[in-house]
Amino acid sequence: MVSVQPQRLLDIPLGLYVHWPWCVRKCPYCDFNSHRSPAVLPEDRYVDALLAELDRRAETVEGRTVESIFIGGGTPSLMSGEAVRRLMEGIRSRVDVAADAEVTLEANPGASDEAKFEAFRRAGVNRLSLGIQSFSDERLRAIGRIHDAARAREAVRAAGRVFENFNLDVMFALPGESVGELARELDEAVSSGATHLSFYQLTIEPGTAFAKRTPENLPDEDLTADMGEMVAEKLAAAGFEHYEVSGYARPGLRTRHNLIYWTFGDYLALGAGAHSKVTTASPEGELLIRREQRWASPAKYMEAVEAGDSGRFGTEAALTVDAEALPFEFMLNALRLTDGVEAKLFEVRTGLPLSVIEPTLVRLRREGLLVDDPSRIRTTPKGLAFLSDVQERFLETSE
Ligand code: SF4
Repeated sequence: MVSVQPQRLLDIPLGLYVHWPWCVRKCPYCDFNSHRSPAVLPEDRYVDALLAELDRRAETVEGRTVESIFIGGGTPSLMSGEAVRRLMEGIRSRVDVAADAEVTLEANPGASDEAKFEAFRRAGVNRLSLGIQSFSDERLRAIGRIHDAARAREAVRAAGRVFENFNLDVMFALPGESVGELARELDEAVSSGATHLSFYQLTIEPGTAFAKRTPENLPDEDLTADMGEMVAEKLAAAGFEHYEVSGYARPGLRTRHNLIYWTFGDYLALGAGAHSKVTTASPEGELLIRREQRWASPAKYMEAVEAGDSGRFGTEAALTVDAEALPFEFMLNALRLTDGVEAKLFEVRTGLPLSVIEPTLVRLRREGLLVDDPSRIRTTPKGLAFLSDVQERFLETSE
C-alpha cells in the first residue's frame, strides 16, 4: 500500500448522487432501481428520509467539498419544484457544496414540462439530462416508453429555453431500427441545441421484461457495430468530442459528475438502492475505499431511516473494498474514457503501487489493446472495441 497524507484525501473529487426511485411505469429494458409510482407519491416523506440519511453520513466527507450533484432515478422529474428546492437547500446546509457545482437532474419527457424545468432551475439545478431515447413514435412504442416523439421534441425545446447546459440520452440498435433511421436521429440530436449527448446501445439485461420476451427484430451484431461507428463519426463531424464510451460533449462541457466516477473519484449516494464510494484513511495512513448500498425498496429504505439508521443494506464487513479487487474496479471506470488517465492516477486513487498492474499493462500494450505510452493508461481503438475483455484482464492481478 502507498501511504496517504490527509491532503491526498481532500484532493479526491467528491460528487453527491441522489436517487429518486419511482417512475410512471417500468420500461421493459430497464434494470435500474425503479418502481411504479404509487397513486400518491410520498415525496415529502422521501425528501425527509434523504436529508436524515445525509445527517447521519455527512461526517464521512467532513472537510471536503461536493463538486457536483446528480439527482437521478427512476424519474426525478416526477418531483415537484418545491421538493427539489427543499432537497437542495437541505443538502447545502449539511455539506459544503462548491459555489460553481454542476447540479444535474434527470427528466423524462413524459413526466415534465417547462414550468417544472423553471422550478428546478430556481431550486439550483443548472443542468438537465433528458431521457429522450428516440425521436420516432414507432421506436418509442417498441421500447415501452411513456412519451411519443412530439412530447420528446417539446421537452427538448423547453429544456433549451430554460437551461444553457443540457444532455440528451438517446438509444440505438432499437427493435426494427435501420441505419437510415439512426442517421436521422443523430441529425435531430445534433441540431437540438444539446451541449452533451449520451448515445447508448440497447442491451438486454437479466431480470428485465425484455430478457423474458426479447424483441425479435433487434439489429444483429454487424448492424449494431455499424451503427456504433456511425454514431461516433457523425457526432465527431458535428463538433462533439467523444470522450467516453457513450459520452459526447461540446468542447468544455463534459459532465463533471460522471468524470468523478470515471476517474475513480468519490461519491456519496443517498436514497433507495443508491451505491456510494468514499475513500478514507486507516490510522496507519493506508487508503481505504468503502462502498455502501441502501435498501433498494423505497418503503424499506424510508422505514430504516425513520427508525434511526442510515438505510444501509449489508453488513459492516462487506464495506471495505479488498485491495485485490481495486485494479479491476479502477479499470472498469478509467478505461471508459477515450483519453484514458495518467498512469499515476492509479496510485493516487487506489493507494496501490503501479507495479501491481505493470505486467498486465505491458502485455496489453504488446497486444495493441493499450496505447504504448507508459505515462498513460489508455485503450487503442481496438482496445476500446473489446473494452470488457481488456477490463477483465485486470482481474488477473487479483489471482
Ligand atoms: S423511465 Fe428510466 S428509470 Fe424509469 S423505468 Fe424507464 S428506463 Fe427505467
